[in-house]
Amino acid sequence: VIAMSLHSQLLKWIKKNAETHLELLCKFLALPSVTCEKQTAKQCASWLGTLMQQYGIETKVFEAQGNPILVGEKIIGQNKPTVLFYGHYDVQPAEPLEDWVSPPFSPDIRDNRVFARGAADDKGQILSCLLALRALDDLSVRPLANVKFLFEGEEEEGSPHLAEFVEEHRQYLKADFAIAVDGNRHYSDKPTLIFGVRGGLWVELSINTSQREFHVSYEDVVPNAAEEVTRIISSLTASNGLVTLPGFYDDIIPPSQTEQRWLEDLRFDSNVLASESGRQDAAQIDTVEFYRKMMFSPTLTVTGVSAGYVGSGTKAAIPTRGMIKVDIRLAPNQDPDKILESLNKHLGDVCPEASLKLISKLPPSRTNVELTSVKQFICTFVEIMGNDVILIPSFGGSGPHYVFLDILKVPFVWMPLAWSDCKAHGANENLSVTSFQQGIEIVATLLTSLGIEKLHKDVPNIDPRP
Ligand SMILES: [Zn+2]
Repeated sequence: VIAMSLHSQLLKWIKKNAETHLELLCKFLALPSVTCEKQTAKQCASWLGTLMQQYGIETKVFEAQGNPILVGEKIIGQNKPTVLFYGHYDVQPAEPLEDWVSPPFSPDIRDNRVFARGAADDKGQILSCLLALRALDDLSVRPLANVKFLFEGEEEEGSPHLAEFVEEHRQYLKADFAIAVDGNRHYSDKPTLIFGVRGGLWVELSINTSQREFHVSYEDVVPNAAEEVTRIISSLTASNGLVTLPGFYDDIIPPSQTEQRWLEDLRFDSNVLASESGRQDAAQIDTVEFYRKMMFSPTLTVTGVSAGYVGSGTKAAIPTRGMIKVDIRLAPNQDPDKILESLNKHLGDVCPEASLKLISKLPPSRTNVELTSVKQFICTFVEIMGNDVILIPSFGGSGPHYVFLDILKVPFVWMPLAWSDCKAHGANENLSVTSFQQGIEIVATLLTSLGIEKLHKDVPNIDPRP
């Protein structure tokens, strides 16, 4: 009898258990673990912890300051490398509920997709990982690496307690390589790896001009909060579109040769952008420049403004209060505190009456893609998925990347298992059943391919993607 290859055994196992896996996913999705719903989030964490224990993963549920944090491990041997998987069990609020075809916390399977809040972001992806370990167990295959899991319950609110937790449990979480199973693939839906995030700085600028509303006839002598708001906003950008804050573009590091090559390989769907954004000349956008700016340059975006009367009819009074919401994204190596200071000083110069409130901040972070272990990981991924993988130097958005890179000091890569049309954060979020099953296949195959020689062997001149 010829032994079936591991891969075909795996596919057979996934197919044989497909219905059970979907039932399990639906149970997970029916627990409404919206980040701010502490009680249901806790129930969800305990459900997940029990499942991990059942799968032979030694699991601890830490009652942290916020929602519980789960840490699990399956140790194969002390001389084996260790891979840490990161994900989150909390979900975004589901409102507005009337936009959903089926209720967000009553999972519904149709068109070969599971519709529910959290299906793609991130419960389905977490479950793919756990089932991969389960598969290897069932097939009596030992992974080549020790496996650890870190699942948090506050990712959707910016992971406020993750850094502190990882700092405290650094020894326990020690790993050679860390992978986030979160986010979604490039729009082409080809297998995607992402190596960094931009930093974020979220602030509120508010202004309170007069103690009472004056009649508009006082226009020449009384300050107008609505006009101050527009003056502040226009002071933030020059006519060439560049941000005027002193030092805003300092400390930026350009893409490395490898990153530049990846940028040049990235495709971009200008038709979709043209139709969805109303920008008719989208085809003229220089793709490489667009991606370079999105990943390697900072931005300042006014995301909300309020001032004065905007109800029906008119109101003949001078506005007294105004507010501006600002979202700043920072390139790797930039310091959020330095930019915050610059903004504060600028505000003092332009409008001393205005005040600044910091909502939250997150440092930028990018994994060094020249590291041998990172190149080896890419090679293994390419071996498994084929040459057609998409390598993205950085997200344009932000995430807790620095927690792994700077605190845990482990190379960190995002390996999204969900497809691009999963509608994460929106109504009718869904996970394609095929991507769910493929997730199990990818993680299981990875765990049987990532040997110690792969993660540590010195291969200085390897080209990750020939
Ligand atoms: Zn997520």
